Amino acid sequence: MTKLRLAIVGAGPAGIYAADILLKAERKFDVSIDLFEQLPAPYGLVRYGVAPDHPRIKGIITALRDVLDRGDIRLFGNVRFGEDITLDDLKHHYNAVIFATGAIRDTAMEIPGIDAVGSYGAADYVSWFDGHPDVPREWPLDAASVGVLGNGNVALDVARMLAKHAEDLLVTEVPENVYEGLKSSAITDVHVFGRRGPAQVKFTPLELRELGELRDVDMVVYDEDFDYDEASKDAVASNKQVMVIDRVLQSWRKRPSANGARGDVDNAGGTASRRLHLHFWARPVEVRKDEEGRVAALVYERTQPDGQGGAVGTGELREVPMQALYRAIGYFGSPLPGVPFDKKHGVIPNREGQVLAKDSNQRVPGIYATGWIKRGPVGLIGHTKSDAMETVRHIINDQGSWWQPVDPSEASIPALLHERGVKWTDLAGWHRLDEHEIGLGAPQERARVKVVPRDEMVRVSRGE
Ligand code: NAP
Repeated sequence: MTKLRLAIVGAGPAGIYAADILLKAERKFDVSIDLFEQLPAPYGLVRYGVAPDHPRIKGIITALRDVLDRGDIRLFGNVRFGEDITLDDLKHHYNAVIFATGAIRDTAMEIPGIDAVGSYGAADYVSWFDGHPDVPREWPLDAASVGVLGNGNVALDVARMLAKHAEDLLVTEVPENVYEGLKSSAITDVHVFGRRGPAQVKFTPLELRELGELRDVDMVVYDEDFDYDEASKDAVASNKQVMVIDRVLQSWRKRPSANGARGDVDNAGGTASRRLHLHFWARPVEVRKDEEGRVAALVYERTQPDGQGGAVGTGELREVPMQALYRAIGYFGSPLPGVPFDKKHGVIPNREGQVLAKDSNQRVPGIYATGWIKRGPVGLIGHTKSDAMETVRHIINDQGSWWQPVDPSEASIPALLHERGVKWTDLAGWHRLDEHEIGLGAPQERARVKVVPRDEMVRVSRGE
């Protein structure tokens, strides 16, 4: 059996799970895998999307690391697809490619004023607090009152990472510049807005409950949001997750900080120096700007249940003053040079992971997709595994229809990157960086302290 050569672009959970499943299916075919990653370190959103105070989820890295450490996957980090290596290069050297590039941008939001100074996408803030090398080191945290749009887990991550006191992050791997930035934050109030009700949220019970455990942060919920219609009552009664979420929210209604008068913080009765307000039935309509074009307030329309789990507007407009706004209404995939792309949904068009041409819907031989770039930015990390299984099943069945590479030799890739002056990082380099970061954390008994600048990551990885 000739050895087949496969390239995977993206070393996040999607790419690593796909590699693992392919290698475990080796009895069905003989394959060698090269994993390309644009960042100098692997693990994608587990390293650069999961919040630093979520070590349990970060723990997924251990399983991903075990896959890479088997020794039969080559990692080429700090290699940008479309610049350092192209689709034509991959066709020249491999039999097929799987794109596992995820979704790392914010979905656009079309409301007046969303371009105000102080209006941010959640993905950018997450990248900052997770020490992504390609975002600025400084983040403006001079706002006292801040809005967060959306009722998913990213909205809760953002709200928590705004409300939490910086000192309480010191036990985590939070980068030094992020700790310093958060320490200077002027924040007192974080307002989270959901366009539907408590029974229709997308976030999960564990993440919600965690908000109530934040030190010196009062949770504020509003009685008028809990007037459930039949559909909401059904959801609470029939769905365990919704039931728990409802129970947590109801317990906050009984806290002294929960105020019946919306926005009447002085009457809230809580004692904390920071408050986290959850507003439901609030559809964002406009961001009001001050004379300097900065965020001054969010205007929202009060909505009500439509009887089927959705919401309809009531026509009543309300305004909450604030100086910064974060939209956490979903991530969006980015197009890749030479690869079909569905601009509306931000994914690579595909049928169960087999990539389709944009207009004809015909299969494009040799090209596959997995993870968020395949199915959109929904689902927890574990879902990525079943997703990869589906893609790999097709890969195994499609073997006959793949590319015939001109030069499939393993030596050709390092030679090509070297010739182009690419400073790539490999698995041994990642181990070096990993140990370096763990060493930086050791004196303070922290799991690690992340290295943030890209050139420093590359230098440490390459032992330069
Ligand atoms: P998400 O779960 O899809 O939530 C998006 C939220 O934005 C929804 O509440 C949605 O409301 C709202 N929204 C969308 N468009 C809107 C608009 N135009 N105006 C107002 N609200 C709007 O997305 P996500 O929070 O980005 O999370 C992505 C995935 O990552 C999820 O599967 C999530 O569970 C996962 N994740 C998990 C964790 C964790 O486990 N700790 C952390 C982060 C992310 P509607 O429901 O009304 O559409």
